[in-house]
Amino acid sequence: PSQIAIESLSPDELVAEHASLSARYADLTAKNLTLDLTRGKPSPEQLDLANGLLTLPGEDFRDGTGLDTRNYGGLDGLPELRAIFSELLNIPVGNLLAGNNASLEIMHDLVVFALLHGTPDSERPWSAEPVVKFLAPSPGYDRHFAITESFGIEMIPVPLNDDGPDMDVVRELVANDAAIKGIWTVPTYANPTGAVYSEEITRALVSMPTAAPDFRIIWDNAYAVHALVEQGAPALDVLGLAAEAGNPNRPLALASTSKITFAGAGVSFFGASSENIAWYQKHYGIKSIGPDKVNQLRHLRFFGDADGVRAHMAKHREILAPKFALVQEILTERLDGTGVATWTRPEGGYFVSLDVVPGTARRVVQLAREAGISLTAAGCAFPYGTDPEDANIRLAPSFPSLDDVRTSMDGVATCVLLAATEARLAR
Ligand code: PMP
Repeated sequence: PSQIAIESLSPDELVAEHASLSARYADLTAKNLTLDLTRGKPSPEQLDLANGLLTLPGEDFRDGTGLDTRNYGGLDGLPELRAIFSELLNIPVGNLLAGNNASLEIMHDLVVFALLHGTPDSERPWSAEPVVKFLAPSPGYDRHFAITESFGIEMIPVPLNDDGPDMDVVRELVANDAAIKGIWTVPTYANPTGAVYSEEITRALVSMPTAAPDFRIIWDNAYAVHALVEQGAPALDVLGLAAEAGNPNRPLALASTSKITFAGAGVSFFGASSENIAWYQKHYGIKSIGPDKVNQLRHLRFFGDADGVRAHMAKHREILAPKFALVQEILTERLDGTGVATWTRPEGGYFVSLDVVPGTARRVVQLAREAGISLTAAGCAFPYGTDPEDANIRLAPSFPSLDDVRTSMDGVATCVLLAATEARLAR
């Protein structure tokens, strides 16, 4: 280890260490920084990679089938673009829709439709049930949890390991409680830990007995092609595995190009069984005459084929991988061996999940904020925004420049150490 364990310091050494960290922290605040590590946004250079979109599709507004994308219709989305993402997401093209700019909106719709109308497997609308619950593997994506919270769906946190949720806990819960209607998942390079669901866990999820006949897995594959390493994790055939297990309607798969092309101006995808797709379109068809096919066409022209997407993601990787490597380098240099922090080493996605001394995450975020470094609120990755341990901090290094990543991570490390020494002094 490169550093001394805080726990092993004598009382005098601890006082000296705290004084030295306080001085370092004062230097940090004197810099008047304004750095932001809060959200997983692509950097301007990453967005530049997709600038070709800004002049597409040009005057040629028909897709390969001759469809005039300028007009209404085509609820499924453009077949050629669906074919590209069918290959990348491992979802049969007939079971994959291309939609508008936000997969989060589809997830919101799926929950709303289930609440108001029930799913094809529901005895009654979810809203007619006395209680509806969802499993929330944690730490997880705050906006998922916000959807269920906003509708009064009770969330049950479940530990998330490197290869997916703790299945002993999940199996036990879903087998015995018919109020549990679903689980939020981010199967590839999960937000924020970088966990990648194994095939074994995926099979367990699609096949486990559930007390609710209409149990759903929101399979949010937002980072399916977002590897930081050359050989990324393959997309599992979740629909096929579910059908094989006799539960074809269980998975509801999502993805989007928000972190491939333009965040908030890309194309979303929804994959599910034919019965689920028909159910979704029946309700979606009431709120829309069809998606933005001109946007889909420009994406189709921009990528060409699945290899076009892969080549494009390699360019993202060239920009992102050094930032993630720098986060690891600085955390290791400053915190390895101190015994006050552990963190994830993701092979893809947009986040690093940092665990600090229990009871100090909020203090770390406060110290960082007062030094001009904005971090996501402590606890944000847990249901209701409450981390029972007050230990977890989500780091998002994609947006800042390399220099800013260096400065902010070094600052965060100082705050982690300062909060840890404060906590030990207070004992
Ligand atoms: N799912 C996850 C896991 C995400 O991290 C994000 C973006 N931060 C989204 C969905 C949002 O996707 P979209 O832009 O398609 O709504």
